[in-house]
Amino acid sequence: MHLKERIFWHETTDMPAAREQTLPERVDVAVIGAGFTGLSAARVLAKRGARVAVLEAHTLGWGASSRNGGMVLTGLKLGVDTLRAKYGREAARRMFAASVASIDCVEQIVKEEGIQCDLVRSGHLEVACKPAHYEHFAKAAEIMAREYNHQVRLVPKSELRSEIGSDTYHGGLVDEASAGLNPARYVAGLARAAERAGALLYDQAQVERVERDGADFCLTTARGKLRAREVLVATSGYTGSATPQLRRKIIPIGSFIIATEVLPEALAREVSPRGRMIFDSKNFLYYFRLTPDRRMLFGGRAAFFPETPTTVRDSAEILRQGMLSVYPQLRDVGVEYVWGGTLDFAFDRMPHAGQLAGLHYALGYAGHGVAMATYLGTKLGERLAGGASDNPFEGVPFPGAPLGLYDGRPWFLPFAWAWYKFLDWIS
Ligand SMILES: Cc1cc2nc3c(=O)[nH]c(=O)nc-3n(C[C@H](O)[C@H](O)[C@H](O)COP(=O)(O)OP(=O)(O)OC[C@H]3O[C@@H](n4cnc5c(N)ncnc54)[C@H](O)[C@@H]3O)c2cc1C
Repeated sequence: MHLKERIFWHETTDMPAAREQTLPERVDVAVIGAGFTGLSAARVLAKRGARVAVLEAHTLGWGASSRNGGMVLTGLKLGVDTLRAKYGREAARRMFAASVASIDCVEQIVKEEGIQCDLVRSGHLEVACKPAHYEHFAKAAEIMAREYNHQVRLVPKSELRSEIGSDTYHGGLVDEASAGLNPARYVAGLARAAERAGALLYDQAQVERVERDGADFCLTTARGKLRAREVLVATSGYTGSATPQLRRKIIPIGSFIIATEVLPEALAREVSPRGRMIFDSKNFLYYFRLTPDRRMLFGGRAAFFPETPTTVRDSAEILRQGMLSVYPQLRDVGVEYVWGGTLDFAFDRMPHAGQLAGLHYALGYAGHGVAMATYLGTKLGERLAGGASDNPFEGVPFPGAPLGLYDGRPWFLPFAWAWYKFLDWIS
């Protein structure tokens, strides 16, 4: 299959162009990156009277925020049992509650700002690739009910056809609190909301250097220099050499998606009778859903390295084969879109927010960023505007690479690839 990169979501919306041209001399807060994190923070800051500039290297929403699966999910990358074992009962409770609150946060912004982004509380379905994974779901469901007062529903293999038109899996877990949306429409709406609130948005404004300048920071950008009292780094998987201290803590990992032609109504109902956000239980997972116009959108880590024309091109056929292994009935359905984006993984696979070398940051979403980036961006914006800090991810230790063997160029990805393949094989 020879498909050129085309991002389905981009063709469903007009991304707003940044109107600002000339940088002001000084702002209260400079935000680096115009995705969910940066724009959510800028919106809140501007509403609270701060002078804020958002500096985006490409176009508004260019990064993962307009390229993702649009799954607005409860929970974190780490399972609930690991979370409790690692951080203790109380902290784990607060973190899990934040993951649920992050969906309310998205819903509230969408409502308040009138963003037309097809947000629907469709729930998510996690499917078990092995019988042991289903047993693990049962344990997780019990912990969520007992410890977090959060109800999910187990679906045994015999009943799975009511949730998914596939016989590949060994059971499922449904969480009705999760939702789906069109991420490009959502990030476009966030940009418009931030601008309406008074934030200054700049595209083609790559930040090249950030230096201390007395009590301020001085940012050197492709559009010139700017001074700021505070700097918020919201660059996620695209964190680069302008902020080397953060780049060393984030592993950029490619994720890829295909979207089919529009499915006939009956076939769409067969493959996903309830329109859930679906993902499987492997480390190398597949995630998939119907789009609002009834295409099958099917994503996964077809390559580990971030998107390039080669990794995107190769992903189309790899993902089509993956899709057919789940849904053989889609054999004659054409694939019309393929694209890639970069995820940001911290070494502990947790989201992190806080301050490093004076710079504020929120990143490390590990594929759970639609809701969490909105939430952490909003929380950071509130705090920088003088509000209270009630963010359970602030102050969580932010580990770097073991032995410091990492300068931001992920030479170890092929080894990590092999390791996770091995784990999927044995677990
Ligand atoms: C293919 C894919 C599928 C995904 N699916 C889901 C999903 O279904 N559900 C979910 O919850 N999460 C998903 N995610 C993750 C989610 O999209 C991200 O966690 C989230 O969008 C991160 O938002 P952000 O604003 O922090 O970063 P981004 O949206 O990546 O924005 C960062 C921006 O910073 C800019 N930037 C970088 N360096 C500089 C610089 N020096 N100067 C100026 N600008 C700079 C970049 O150009 C970029 O636009 C997916 C991600 C990918 C890639």
